[in-house]
Parts: sequence; C-alpha cells; structure tokens
Amino acid sequence: MPTTGFTYLRPLTVADLIRDLAEPGAFALAGGTDLVPLRAAGAITPAVLVDVKHVAELRGVETEGDAIRIGAATTLADLGERDGRSLDAILDGAKIVGAAQTRERATLGGNLCRSSPAGDTLCGLLVLDAVAELQSLDGIRHVPVRDFFTGPSRNVKKPSEALVSIRVPVREGGSAYRRFTYRRSMDLAVVGVAAWLSIEDGVCVNAAIAIGAVAPTPRLVPAAAETLVGTTCDDEAIAHACEHVVAASSPIDDVRGTRDHRLRVLRPLTRDTLLLALTRALGSSPP
Ligand SMILES: Cc1cc2nc3c(=O)[nH]c(=O)nc-3n(C[C@H](O)[C@H](O)[C@H](O)COP(=O)(O)OP(=O)(O)OC[C@H]3O[C@@H](n4cnc5c(N)ncnc54)[C@H](O)[C@@H]3O)c2cc1C
Repeated sequence: MPTTGFTYLRPLTVADLIRDLAEPGAFALAGGTDLVPLRAAGAITPAVLVDVKHVAELRGVETEGDAIRIGAATTLADLGERDGRSLDAILDGAKIVGAAQTRERATLGGNLCRSSPAGDTLCGLLVLDAVAELQSLDGIRHVPVRDFFTGPSRNVKKPSEALVSIRVPVREGGSAYRRFTYRRSMDLAVVGVAAWLSIEDGVCVNAAIAIGAVAPTPRLVPAAAETLVGTTCDDEAIAHACEHVVAASSPIDDVRGTRDHRLRVLRPLTRDTLLLALTRALGSSPP
C-alpha cells in the first residue's frame, strides 16, 4: 500500500483544471475505478489528484453540429440511459462495464485514458470514428481515437493534458459491440468486437470493424471492413471479413484466456456482431 499522501484539488472550470494538471505528479481523477486500485497496488504514486467531475464542461452529452459531444467525465450509467442509434456500439460497451455501482462512478473519459486492450467502450469509439479533445496550458488538440493508443494501457495523452470531450460524428447506419466473457457480468472481455455498417438499397456502402483484447491495443481492421463494401453482407462476405479479423489479431495467453481460445471465439463473435450491426442498419432511422 502507498504510504505517501497527496494533495486533492477540485477545479470547477477547464482553465483551473489544466492549471492544476500542470502541477508535478498530478493525475486526473474521474470515477477512480481504475486509478484508486492502481494507486493501492503501488502502480502509480500521484502527488496531486485533480478531480475532473465537477467541471461542468466535462459532463453531459449534446449534439453539436454534425457530431455528438460527450463530456469526458460523463458516467457510463448516464451514457447508458441515452436513446437513439448513433452511439450504439459505444453504448453496448458502456452498459456492460463492471456492475451498476461501477457504472455510476466510471466515466467514458476514464475508460479511454486507461486504454486497456480490453476496454469495453474503445472498439465502439473506433468504429464510430470518435475524436478526443485534449487540452493543456499548451493549447487544444484533437486526436482521432484511431491514433490515440500506443500500447497496452498507453496512449498519446500527456500527463498535463485533460481529456475534455469525445466527439462522435453523426452518421447513418447501424453499429454494435459484443464481447465474450466467462461470466455474464463483472468480468473483463476475453475478446471484444465492434462493427459499424452503412447500408444503401441493401448494399453495404461503408463499414468499420474493431477488435479488443486480442492485440496490444484495441484496433481497427480496415481489410475486414473493405471486404464488406459492395456486398449485401451475405454469409460469404461476412465469412471473408471474419478471416481478415482473425488474421489481424495477435492474442496472447493471459489470466483471462488462452491465445487458442481467443482465436476460436473471435470468428463467431465477429459474425454475431456484424449481424447485430446489420439488423440495426436495416432498421435504423436517422439519429
Ligand atoms: C469492479 C470493476 C469492474 C470493472 N469492469 C470493467 C469492464 O467490464 N470493462 C471495462 O472496460 N472496464 C472495467 N473496469 C475498469 C474501469 O471501471 C473503467 O476503465 C472505467 O471506465 C474507468 O473510468 P474512471 O472514471 O473510473 O477512471 P479513473 O479511474 O478515474 O481514471 C483512469 C485513468 O484515466 C485518467 N483520466 C480519467 N479521466 C481523465 C480526464 N478527463 N482527463 C485526463 N485523464 C483522465 C486518470 O488519470 C487515470 O489514469 C472495472 C473496474 C472495476 C473496479
């Protein structure tokens, strides 16, 4: 257990938040569902904890032009209550993180900044082409989530940067995220897959597929998505996409599953996820 203390700061504005995060040894504290166990295990030793939850700009979901803006400190419980189809792949993930108590605390921004290969909202953020807004005393930058992850639990965000919001473009189509776990709840993904399909006159005109827990980071599989474009997403096209997904994965043996089992699960999970995204795309009305 860590023996050193820390300073707790509770900014109310983004200006104060980024000033506080510039302090040496500062960590943003959102729901704390990752940070607190990491600190207890001695994996991190924050000198300053900067609570992001009381900054109004970091809370809530709203439509801004042609995108949906999600404040980084929006809890997964609040997110899960949203109606509408345009965030489906993200919401599918948000609704299954931990238990109800976890989701009341845990935030979307925390899931993204933790950058676990098995993070349940991350494949959805990838297929829906989300963009992270990072802010520090040096200014603002917008990083597509596809460029965010650099390794297991690593990303391009600097310690002094606050994740302020995540923007998801509003698009036609249907999306979905499914994961395989050994238990129904309170388990982390052994394998996760998200898909987004845009269908016009019964033909797929655009697609994205992402995989989680089977590579060092959650990642898109463009080759798999490309095989679906121009098809009706029939059995043969989906089988081809699944082959590309398996080829793009590099799972390891760990406490949650073996490499062999992950590879075996990946194909049917990809197929199920694509079929759910297709059903939603065919039934979808504009968001
Ligand atoms: C019992 C339990 C079950 C869980 N089950 C799952 C699960 O099924 N699936 C899953 O994906 N995860 C799971 N988790 C992990 C965790 O709940 C999620 O990753 C959660 O989304 C983290 O969000 P948080 O708000 O608690 O982040 P925190 O723990 O507060 O922060 C996590 C990291 O992100 C940084 N950070 C947070 N917000 C910001 C910000 N706005 N700007 C800059 N940096 C920031 C923090 O400094 C820290 O490094 C579980 C955790 C527990 C304790």
